[in-house]
Amino acid sequence: MLLTIKGLQKSFGELAVLKDIDLNIGKGKVVTIMGPSGSGKTTLLRCLNGLEIPGQGHFQFHDDFSLDFNQKLRKSEMLQLRRKSGMVFQSYNLFPHKTALENVIEGPVIVQKKDKQTATNEAERLLEKVGLQDKMDLFPHQLSGGQQQRVGIARALAIEPELMLFDEPTSALDPELIGEVLGVIKDLANEGWTMVVVTHEVSFAKHVSDHLIFMDGGYIVEQGDPKEVLEQPKEPRTKQFLNRIL
Ligand code: ADP
Repeated sequence: MLLTIKGLQKSFGELAVLKDIDLNIGKGKVVTIMGPSGSGKTTLLRCLNGLEIPGQGHFQFHDDFSLDFNQKLRKSEMLQLRRKSGMVFQSYNLFPHKTALENVIEGPVIVQKKDKQTATNEAERLLEKVGLQDKMDLFPHQLSGGQQQRVGIARALAIEPELMLFDEPTSALDPELIGEVLGVIKDLANEGWTMVVVTHEVSFAKHVSDHLIFMDGGYIVEQGDPKEVLEQPKEPRTKQFLNRIL
């Protein structure tokens, strides 16, 4: 397992959002998360990335790095967690006044203190990989949504994470642009990246992911082989949700 999560809980004030999450993420596996709005999917990803600090629970990474959220954590431990994963956001979250290339080198240069030339060479390679070799010097507003999201993917890859997290990466896109972003994510899956993808793209879940998790009300209510869960859901809440989106 790349990451074993046990007893993860997160509340915002009185509101319990993640109630008791146990989850194993195998190295090189693609895990899809589905579930109704408000079920805690984004919060789970943000906890994995250290953008939110869980109230309780335990993370165990394969390299023996572990975090026990029942105890007070050091800032250095949270930073270490942040560096393990790259996050791709629904709304891209690019710096509007930086070019595609500058967006991609920001993390390596500012956070990882990499030499600018090395970071630039690497960013060029990543932008080529996501099919943006001709767009490196353009600003986000000069790019389509699909292109902006591909910059977002290159930027997340640039910090050389062990785990890639995608929060509804195509839900802000016009239908004709969804394919180009899913295509890039699929290529990463084929390269063996470990990924957690929140998405309602059923075909992606079925054909690309290895494991599907269905969340509702802060719990994982059903999980398993994506085809099985999608075609023969056992839980009434999963059935109800799938009836709405299929
Ligand atoms: P999903 O991604 O499944 O739509 P979220 O994780 O975004 O669900 O949200 C789960 C619940 O947590 C929602 O009720 C949401 O309003 C609440 N929530 C999320 N983030 C915050 C926050 N920073 N402060 C307060 N409540 C939050």
